[in-house]
Order: sequence, then structure tokens, then C-alpha cells
Amino acid sequence: MSMYATTPSATLHYAFEVCELSIDELNSMVDTDKFWGMCKSGCVNYEKKWCCPPFSPALKDYVRMWQKIYIIFMRISTSQFDYIKNNYLKIKAGNAILKSRMDSFLRMMSENYGNFISTGSCRLCKPCKCKETLPCAYPTKMTYSLEALGVDVNLLIQSKFSTPLQWYKKGYLPEYTAVVGGLLTNSDLTNEMICNEYKKFDAKKNKGGD
Ligand code: SF4
Repeated sequence: MSMYATTPSATLHYAFEVCELSIDELNSMVDTDKFWGMCKSGCVNYEKKWCCPPFSPALKDYVRMWQKIYIIFMRISTSQFDYIKNNYLKIKAGNAILKSRMDSFLRMMSENYGNFISTGSCRLCKPCKCKETLPCAYPTKMTYSLEALGVDVNLLIQSKFSTPLQWYKKGYLPEYTAVVGGLLTNSDLTNEMICNEYKKFDAKKNKGGD
């Protein structure tokens, strides 16, 4: 469905889609060695955050108590960021709008229906206590991303949604940027109910500005 976000600079349109998956299906999309290997070779958060490899758990252990997951896929067209000159900053701005909405919505839904998988690494503390070799400050609230749990997010989106992920490269601005999160639950929810909850959440968010 089509949504909009009001920011001080513009009113931006973005897409919100949801898809239900069984936990078995999600488990079939895991390649921990491959994705943790990519984290190790290319991410500054490797070994620096409690939510990231090698400290994040195996997906099958993390989702053991849940029966299903609602994957949420949000994307925003980069052509709307003409007021930002730098391409990388356009992607960053789009991601910031989507991530903040997705994570706040999923945290709210998880309070009633289960647990959630966030759009990126846990951002509850800055910096993560791991950097100071201290224990996690909020072990019951911290979140993991699908990537940190070893899920092939590209495969997941390709197989369950009609629009694939696009990647930013130096010198190439993708048509859109996207974020992916998930609600783990044992409740009988529907895609329609989640969309309706999101519409209410988004309306409130837009009233308060971004
Ligand atoms: S809650 Fe804080 S200490 Fe724990 S993983 Fe998140 S950022 Fe790190």
C-alpha cells in the first residue's frame, strides 16, 4: 500500500508491504556461514555490537518459540530526494525515514503479539556496551536484524515480494531504497490487520511530524 511521510523538507511517498511466512520457510533461507562471513569482511559492527555476529544467535534458536513471522518490506523512491545533492545522502535520508517508522511500529506490535526483528543493528545505546566490554544494557529489549541472524534477505524478498531489493553503488543511484523487518508471533494476525494497524500508527506519526 502507498503511504506518506511528512518531513520538514518535503512530503515523501513510500510503499509498505507485508507477507506471512512459516518459521520453517524462514529457516530455509538461512546461510549463516555466508552472511556472517560478509559481516566479518565488510562491516564495522562485526565483534563491536552485542546484536551482531559473532555474538548474534543462530536463527533457529532465536525463533524456536514462534510459529510464524510477518515480513514487512518498505521502500521509498530516491527521485523524491532532489533537494539533496549527494546520492549517498539521498539513500541515507530514505533509510532513516523508513527505519525509524519500521522499528517503532514493530516494537509497538511486539508488545502485544510477540517479538520483532529490526531493520538493522540494535540502536538502543550509543555506543553499544560491547565496545566498552560491558554487558548489554537492555538484554530483554535488544534487537537483531535478519542479516545478523544469517538470513538471505535478498532471496527472501525475491521469493515473497514482486519488487527485488536494489543496492547503492558509487556512481549509481538505485530507483528506490528499502528496509526489511519482521514480527515473530503465535497470534492469528492477517496481512490486512497489520496494514490497518500500520495506517493508524503512520497517521499518528505524521501528525507529530518526522
Ligand atoms: S541494548 Fe545497547 S548494549 Fe545491548 S545490544 Fe543494543 S546497543 Fe548494544
